[in-house]
Amino acid sequence: MKKHNFSAGPCILPDEVMQQAAQAVQELDGSGLSLIEISHRSAAFIEIMDKACALALELLGLTDKGYKALFLQGGASTQFLATAYNLLENKGAYLNTGTWSTKAIKEAKLLGEVVEVASSADANFNYIPKEYAVPADADYLHITTNNTIFGTQIKALPETDTVLVSDSSSDIFSRQLDFSKFGILYAGAQKNMGPAGTTLVVVKEEVLGKVTHKIPSMLDYAVHGAKDSMFNTPPVFAVYTSMLTLDWLQKLGGIKAIEAKNNAKAELMYGEIDRNPLFKGFAALEDRSTMNATFTLEKAELKERFDSMCADALISGINGHRSVGGYRASMYNALPLASVQTLVDVMKELERTA
Ligand SMILES: *Cc1c(COP(=O)(O)O)cnc(C)c1O
Repeated sequence: MKKHNFSAGPCILPDEVMQQAAQAVQELDGSGLSLIEISHRSAAFIEIMDKACALALELLGLTDKGYKALFLQGGASTQFLATAYNLLENKGAYLNTGTWSTKAIKEAKLLGEVVEVASSADANFNYIPKEYAVPADADYLHITTNNTIFGTQIKALPETDTVLVSDSSSDIFSRQLDFSKFGILYAGAQKNMGPAGTTLVVVKEEVLGKVTHKIPSMLDYAVHGAKDSMFNTPPVFAVYTSMLTLDWLQKLGGIKAIEAKNNAKAELMYGEIDRNPLFKGFAALEDRSTMNATFTLEKAELKERFDSMCADALISGINGHRSVGGYRASMYNALPLASVQTLVDVMKELERTA
């Protein structure tokens, strides 16, 4: 029996994607070979890579707008350093909204001057700072659109004249934004797109080539771009599976269609957190993430009971991150509304029987 998978990442993927991916490991499209035993230089794989890149740009509304989509390795964590390498000349400006932003700042500091324009560390990152100034000589402003651990999400993109860079690992393809505002947008695949192993980097080509220092090849977006993400052997399985998910999303009606579903799931989830006196939301109301709902149980003595009721209902992956405690229900694109309903029903049942 398949469980209700609320895992924060790696996480749930659409059933049909899982089936197609499993099939391709056995045999890719009747080729007599497995996806993972063919050359990445084969026509079959080049077609897969091209399709993945084209779908990514299409879904974001960035086709023919001077952007390049790359599928790289090393996770979003490598992009913390790579973004700085590709852009940091004077200084990098960072909005610190949680663990991942903090890590991005740490990496950029290896390379040059970093300015933290604002931080919500004072309240354990339960909100998004909104009033801040970006130094005029900053090369870029780095934000994290969704804070996976704390359950906050930037609702309105900052207005800035400098290059806007975002780590959107946990809410890419989940909601409509004006993606043309980004100079660089990156996301580890394992939250809304595919298995771990590849990271999507969408780069506006005009932002590159402005730094005077040398960039190691594996961190250089221009190098990867010139080779269409095949500078070295790409993670073929992760790219293929990501392509399947993007194709699934496009057939569903794209970001607009999934956003409506995601909003419905979030409303149901937060509605119960706010209504049920046994639970309390962690994130500031106006900054609540539609992807990761963080909440605590008001009475510690009910924890064991609630956990076992969740297990009985086949609910998996709702334990909170250690830096927040409590619970975290991750509701990524592939999670059905019915799974959220199951969790909400258990919360109601706990209240009824407490
Ligand atoms: C998961 C996550 C990361 C880390 O991604 P890796 O691919 O493991 O390096 C970075 N940023 C955010 C926002 C995340 O949710």
